[in-house]
Amino acid sequence: MIKNHLINSIYRATEGEGVFLGRPQIFVRYQGCAIGCLNCDSKDTWDFSEEMGQSLEMIMEAVHKVGLDGTIKNVSITGGDPLHPSHVPHVMALVKLLKEKKYYINIEAAGTRVVDEIFDLVDYVSFDFKTPSTGVKTPVKNITKMIAQYPGKFQVKAVIANAEDFSATLSAYKILESQNFGMPFPWVLTPCFNTNEVFPLDRFKQVLTMNEESGGMFRVIGQQHKWVFGPDQKQV
Ligand code: SF4
Repeated sequence: MIKNHLINSIYRATEGEGVFLGRPQIFVRYQGCAIGCLNCDSKDTWDFSEEMGQSLEMIMEAVHKVGLDGTIKNVSITGGDPLHPSHVPHVMALVKLLKEKKYYINIEAAGTRVVDEIFDLVDYVSFDFKTPSTGVKTPVKNITKMIAQYPGKFQVKAVIANAEDFSATLSAYKILESQNFGMPFPWVLTPCFNTNEVFPLDRFKQVLTMNEESGGMFRVIGQQHKWVFGPDQKQV
């Protein structure tokens, strides 16, 4: 097991996507991810770089400081993949301490696994549904498990790059519907906004239209931070 928390960055920013859009929070971004999404916009977080190790005390101090000396009490644990097995014991220790200090904790989950020991402790889970353009797969049974175990405590987010991505997301929805699960959680479509491209207005409109024409069961929410700061800007 890696001895320390591998940390890419700890910073304050306004949430740019999903159901917490517009909410200031502190991001604790773990370093290290082995999932390999093709359209990942955080490839700098992939390496498990031991030299980026920090102690729990260092992280808590940074969270307090960037959160304006404890004024901001919302934390989002992200990555990288904070649910990679080598991170899990560290993330659990961090979550327990943050909860003692009364922080509200969201964790960004890649959708490839349900990690009960962490999901039981946090306040909210942002669970990815990986679409074909990512080259990774989220089994629908993972969402079924989330519905059964974490009602009211999670959103699902799917990055949509094209019609195939939308179709795959709709198929997953139909499977859940056929199992009588309906949609008891917010399912957010994030129109893909790649680094090094200008705002993809046509893609965004296409996603809006596909959602409307299919019954409008999803919520289309773009990545506001990329509009404001540019798609390449980090720590925003
Ligand atoms: S899980 Fe996140 S950090 Fe890892 S490859 Fe996919 S998008 Fe990138």
